[in-house]
Amino acid sequence: MADQPSPASRILLLVDHPGNRQRLANALAPQYAVVLPSSDATLAEPVDCCLLDAPALARLTERLLQRKAVEAPNFLPMILLIPREAVRLVPPAYWDVIDEVMSIPAEKPELLQRVSSLLRIRRLTSEVRQKAAADATLASLAEGLIIYDTTGHILQNNHIADAYLDYFRVTPHPPFLDRTRDLHIETVDGSPFPPEALPTVRALAGETITGLVMAFRYDASATQWLSVNAAPIQLPSGERMGAVVTFTDITRRRQIEEERERLYAELDSTISAIADGILVFDTDGKVMRMNPTARILLGTHNGNGIEQLEEQIAFPLSTTPDGPTMPVHVLPVWQALRGETVHGLTGLLRAPNTRETWLSISAAPIRTTQGRIIGAILSLTDVTVLHELQQRQEDFLRIVSHDLRNPLTIIQGHIQLLSSRLAYAGVNGDMRSGVEAIQRSVKRMNAMIQDLVDATRLESGQFPLELHAVDLRDYLQNLLSRTEMLIDYARITLEIPSDLPPVSADYNRLERIFINLLSNALKYSTPGTPVLVRARREGGMVRIAVTDEGPGIPPEDLPLLFQRYYRVKGARMQEGIGLGLYISRLLVEAHGGRVWVESEVGKGSTFSFTLPVA
Ligand code: ADP
Repeated sequence: MADQPSPASRILLLVDHPGNRQRLANALAPQYAVVLPSSDATLAEPVDCCLLDAPALARLTERLLQRKAVEAPNFLPMILLIPREAVRLVPPAYWDVIDEVMSIPAEKPELLQRVSSLLRIRRLTSEVRQKAAADATLASLAEGLIIYDTTGHILQNNHIADAYLDYFRVTPHPPFLDRTRDLHIETVDGSPFPPEALPTVRALAGETITGLVMAFRYDASATQWLSVNAAPIQLPSGERMGAVVTFTDITRRRQIEEERERLYAELDSTISAIADGILVFDTDGKVMRMNPTARILLGTHNGNGIEQLEEQIAFPLSTTPDGPTMPVHVLPVWQALRGETVHGLTGLLRAPNTRETWLSISAAPIRTTQGRIIGAILSLTDVTVLHELQQRQEDFLRIVSHDLRNPLTIIQGHIQLLSSRLAYAGVNGDMRSGVEAIQRSVKRMNAMIQDLVDATRLESGQFPLELHAVDLRDYLQNLLSRTEMLIDYARITLEIPSDLPPVSADYNRLERIFINLLSNALKYSTPGTPVLVRARREGGMVRIAVTDEGPGIPPEDLPLLFQRYYRVKGARMQEGIGLGLYISRLLVEAHGGRVWVESEVGKGSTFSFTLPVA
């Protein structure tokens, strides 16, 4: 460090005595620029040191003294010039702000020496402080930092960079393949890191680099990822002073990103494998992803969002495309985004370049673990074939129930007329029994048609129940007397306790169940054998049992008896097509009950069912 005072150093003279002031000014010149408090303008310039005498010191304000005490040694250094005998008169408070004391009159060499050493000490402390501040800044950085000179030598680095210095060296080449540590340094796409791509090298060549990713692979399993920034250090003149490299460990971030990519890939392949169309929406109703089936279903739909879907999908409230449609705000995706779940809503898709498609549409909200809705998922199942089948079934029902019945009714009418004419004419024998056979067949055919129509209606769920509290004793007595003509009333015994609670049932449906079970019991057993109807309460239900002494049912048939069109093989063929028990089961289940059978071949059968207490 040079001892010579800087010619630029400015010394402020706060000396009241004109003679002393002049002498001091002469002694300091020409090494120092002397500043006199003659005008405010000159004082506005910074000065490096102040020489003051006792009267000037006495004039310094309290505030100034306080500031100097707090901010020293940043503050202006002060030399007090005072006659030796007056030193003891200086109040103690002033000693805190005075850096030097000199007795006057001062000799020129001594004065110059004291001023010079004071300035030097001040400069040194200021440099030490600046360095300490810079070191503290570097140490407090969360990222690694290395500063290079123009030749690539490391001038400075913080402690985070310590462990990496080897790999950011320019010469000799850093060990990108360090076998001693089983370390490979790679680029983001997994190729070996090229030495010429080292950020330091590029920054020293004038390039600024941000977010360059370096992978430090220590073995197959452990990888550390750094994101590196580098820039040349350049003076305003353009002259290059070196380079600075900073880097952050982004291993955790990469792991999260990789996990997210893996989840996305999994999700993509999962939804691609699903046969239904799947669309994922964000909270604004924008399509975030869709699987190939959805793309095929929606034709040219390019996935902009719900609005486009709304144009393509109508929600007819009837099963025909021309029926009334559902209002837009109840569309499944909107419902899902409001937190509701929609199941199996029928929609009609009219996508460009594709045929009309009937869809079963379901939607559900996507929620975070905290329950916040972050989107919705929509699934589209092509049910066109099912819909066509349903349509065909309805056509069939219409034909069976109307078109087939009409001619039967005419036959029935005429045969009745014929029968009464024959009776009137007293015709008996073959002719008479022939006509009666036709009558029975017509009746049987009517019953079969009725079973077919009923079974189909029940299957499609088109049978609202009108529930009433039904007193079974009254109900059954009434039923038997009404149907006396149809069934063999005399063979039936009712065993119904008088305190049996009423059941909750639909009159007409209940009649259908009883007629099915009673007519089976009567027709499948030997004429004249008794049929018993019992009822009793079992918890919240009433159990009704119909017992006959018929041939019984083989055990292997029992589990299948209540299925559609099931008839026991080899059993005596009676009228019916195997739908009676099936219809009874659907009706009992619709009431909330269940139906079953217990039977022993040769002894008889008991068909039981339950109904809820009203
Ligand atoms: P179906 O209209 O043919 O009578 P059901 O569904 O009522 O059809 O009955 C199915 C089959 O169960 C009948 O074909 C018959 O073989 C058998 N079955 C029903 N009830 C009885 C019974 N009480 N005793 C013996 N077999 C019966």
